Amino acid sequence: MESGTVETSSGANGAKAAGAPETIEVVNPATGECIANVAVDSPQDVAATVARVRANQAEWEAIGIEGRYRWLGKLRDWLLDNTERVLDTMQAETGKVRADASGEPVYLADLINFYGSNAAKFIGEEAVRPHTSLLAAKKLRVQYRPHPVVGIISPWNFPLVLALGDAIPALQAGAAVVVKPSEFTPLGLAEVVAAWKEEIGAPDVFDCVQGIGETGGALVDEADFVQFTGSDQTGRKVMAKAAETLTPVSLELGGKDPMIVLADADLKRAANAAAWGGMMNSGQICMSVERIYVEEPAYDEFVARLTAAVGELRQGPDGPGYGKDVGAMTSPKQSAIVEAHVEDALANGAKALTGGKRVEGPGDYFEPTVLVDVDHSMQVMRDETFGPVVGVMKVRDAEEALRLANDTRYGLSGCVFGEKQRAESVARRVECGAVNVNDVLVNYLAMDVPMGGWKQSGIGYRHGEPGIKKYCRTESIVATRFGGKREPTWYPYTKARRGLVGRIGRAFHARDLKRRLGLRS
Ligand code: NAD
Repeated sequence: MESGTVETSSGANGAKAAGAPETIEVVNPATGECIANVAVDSPQDVAATVARVRANQAEWEAIGIEGRYRWLGKLRDWLLDNTERVLDTMQAETGKVRADASGEPVYLADLINFYGSNAAKFIGEEAVRPHTSLLAAKKLRVQYRPHPVVGIISPWNFPLVLALGDAIPALQAGAAVVVKPSEFTPLGLAEVVAAWKEEIGAPDVFDCVQGIGETGGALVDEADFVQFTGSDQTGRKVMAKAAETLTPVSLELGGKDPMIVLADADLKRAANAAAWGGMMNSGQICMSVERIYVEEPAYDEFVARLTAAVGELRQGPDGPGYGKDVGAMTSPKQSAIVEAHVEDALANGAKALTGGKRVEGPGDYFEPTVLVDVDHSMQVMRDETFGPVVGVMKVRDAEEALRLANDTRYGLSGCVFGEKQRAESVARRVECGAVNVNDVLVNYLAMDVPMGGWKQSGIGYRHGEPGIKKYCRTESIVATRFGGKREPTWYPYTKARRGLVGRIGRAFHARDLKRRLGLRS
């Protein structure tokens, strides 16, 4: 995307609350330049947008799974045909390097195909056999009906993967969707929404609203289901607000992911994985490797290899040429947190083997950093850093590694490196939603299996069957196949009829002959 000021209006007509900004300024974090001003949507604008897509939702639901997949397939084709344009916008508003941006459109294409081709299996109507022959006259079915309007509130670190990635299964389920992207990265999603409406010409069931927390709060008030991705601090506010209207929520929150390196690991692979898993997207991934526990015999070699790999990374503004490895910090709020964590660690005895400080501007960069001599009294090993920083600790054995890995309020994901069987048995004891064995981050691409946080990393799941079912309400249809004018349980109550009902119930539900016959043992 070209620099310069672009007025992007999402149709703000309503009155703003006192103190709320009229526009948000979008800055390229790689250069510090303002690249756009985006009109903020007031609560009234949000209500109007939700009402509009709500009015079209019934028709969207009625076209069925295949009909919706046809439209989403057109979106997949648009993403693939316009990848360079999408990546340009993404780089401009996030400061990512091209390589880190480039995974987003292909992931989304895969996700559209995954849910398009599995939706019938995941949310198609189910025929259920009654559990007792007393219900033999009933035909039981379960249908999955979408929450009419799903509101999605998303962060800035993967502006399309996290906003569109949650919208895709909701749309495939038959919901209408309104997204509030992060105020730091509003442009990419707005571009996709415009393409959905104008270039693809798809039904008007997918839109976005722009703004800060106030706009997000208004969406919580209007939506029938809220999918939130962001920090646990904001997640708490969203859940509290949703409680006012008893709106169900799914929360994908922060992490402090551990990596365990066993003495029998392939240390070259483990060190390369730690470098990529910790520094990819400048460490701004909820599933980034943030803490590393290495069994004593492997510690020195692992640390030397990791420090060399991280020390070689090329950082800075990147064009479309894949010339850099580590990009900018997208949110100034986050770079302050990263700096504070590293300063706290260094002040308390940690050592930076490489990196350790902010880079002089222009642009907002933090050096790729490997810290040793860290412990769990330090913020960098306790709180989410969300930057290009890893802390490495030497441990006696796997038991100590597991104790430390699980010593956290978070539980998003983790990884274990070592001999296959041993690593897998250690992985099974890490307390989190997903563990990679001899790999990092890859579970996000294995969309066949659910991912979701334990403890304060979230509530609910994305991916797999739960990742689409969560957008649906179950409706059980219990249909009578045959019956007389009156069921034995209905009025009028008489001693004889109730007695018969009781004897039949006992005969079916008792598990020994005496009781079936109504005799006490
Ligand atoms: P954030 O919590 O500051 O903001 C997330 C979104 O919530 C933004 O769109 C923001 O405008 C909105 N918001 C802020 N206040 C609100 C309020 N009161 N009501 C409604 N909406 C409100 O998070 P962030 O800084 O954008 O993102 C970084 C965080 O996201 C990290 O903690 C990271 O771990 C987490 N994250 C989690 C996942 C996951 O899948 N678990 C994925 C990516 C990022």
